[in-house]
Amino acid sequence: MSDSVLEGNKKKSTATEKWGNRIVLTTYPSQSGIDPIPLKWGASDPRVRGPVVVSRSLSTVRKRNAVGAHSGSYGIYHALAVAIDELNLNHKPDFTNTEPPVAIGPFPQWGDADKIVAMDPFGHLAPWLFKDYIDDGVEIRPTIAVTKAHMRLYEIEDEVKTGKLRVDGKIVINEHGDLTVTKVAVEPVWYLPGVAKRFGINEGTLRRALFEDTGGSYPELITRPDIKVFLPPIGGLTAYIFGDPAKTADPKCRLALRVHDECNGSDVFGSDICTCRPYLLFGISEAVKEAQNGGSGVVIYFRKEGRALGEVTKYLVYNARKRMGDSAAEYFTRTENIAGVKDMRFQALMPDILHFLGIKKIDRMLSMSNMKYDAIVNQGIPIYERVPIPEELIPEDSRVEIDAKIHAGYFTSGKVLTLEELSAVKGRQWEDVDH
Ligand SMILES: [Zn+2]
Repeated sequence: MSDSVLEGNKKKSTATEKWGNRIVLTTYPSQSGIDPIPLKWGASDPRVRGPVVVSRSLSTVRKRNAVGAHSGSYGIYHALAVAIDELNLNHKPDFTNTEPPVAIGPFPQWGDADKIVAMDPFGHLAPWLFKDYIDDGVEIRPTIAVTKAHMRLYEIEDEVKTGKLRVDGKIVINEHGDLTVTKVAVEPVWYLPGVAKRFGINEGTLRRALFEDTGGSYPELITRPDIKVFLPPIGGLTAYIFGDPAKTADPKCRLALRVHDECNGSDVFGSDICTCRPYLLFGISEAVKEAQNGGSGVVIYFRKEGRALGEVTKYLVYNARKRMGDSAAEYFTRTENIAGVKDMRFQALMPDILHFLGIKKIDRMLSMSNMKYDAIVNQGIPIYERVPIPEELIPEDSRVEIDAKIHAGYFTSGKVLTLEELSAVKGRQWEDVDH
């Protein structure tokens, strides 16, 4: 509520009323009153590791040991809610009954500063592990949440109807193909020295790039080298676990895995220019089958739309492709000409979620991406079998994409086309689309 109400009209409180006159643009380690709560990244005992504290609220600002804000990109909506007085700055979250319905971990990987660098392995337990800090007035929020759900997808229903998938009453619960699933939502928490190390750069370069390339946001990346953790304003990920979640970490149980990067146009709206939704659904189906056979299946969904270039860039590329005779040989050039790179997903941080789930090996990898494969294997997790998308699931207009990717190194059990053959693979042309 705003501070004052005038004749029925809510008067919005001003910035000064909310935060006071003095604006703290940045802080320095030696500044009087600065006293961050110790954070020992990679410690296996959460009490030794310490909580991630990022809030700038009056009770917490001096104790912060992280830069950035909670909720990834949604942090901006939080700011908007505060600005328009929809959200009281002093709101204290009530976490009663929000704890995970299943236990995940702890796993030895949680205590290895080299294995998890882009999420907080204690993020789902923070309000309970660090309750004494919260009781002392420190603002601490979870960065991971775990829940259970049912889901229905028409492709899965179709597989049940055609007998490709059986109803077992537990994972596939009825003839509609309704699935039971455990879901883990993860917001990004970056341990900067670890992130820099993954990419083979020094921490100073990473900090400077994050500061400069976000319009000078987060000056503490520069002025507070003692703070090692950054909560970046980017999308997170969701892990969909089929079968008993404890089995993902059991080396005696088989594991099927799909790592999927968001493609809203295909995943949700059925665009046929790429293989995203068909491969995602194939991944879910295979994950379910592995779980039905006594193993487990995991599908991980990363918010990295359009190879992390975003949908605006993606559509510009689509237009350029279609106007220039959409050929597989030119597929990556079109993106590079516009974005300067062909891909910004940089899979180096992706395997963190596998370490979080205690995964030690992957029996069936439902992905053809050499970048994902290399990132996982480089993290010491072997992949025993790679499963390409079945030919019959590839939409005609997406041949350009899939053949170009295979030519560039994507795994296939089929044929790798020559450059000449690649030039002959054409998608729907500009004139074919009704404008
Ligand atoms: Zn797609």
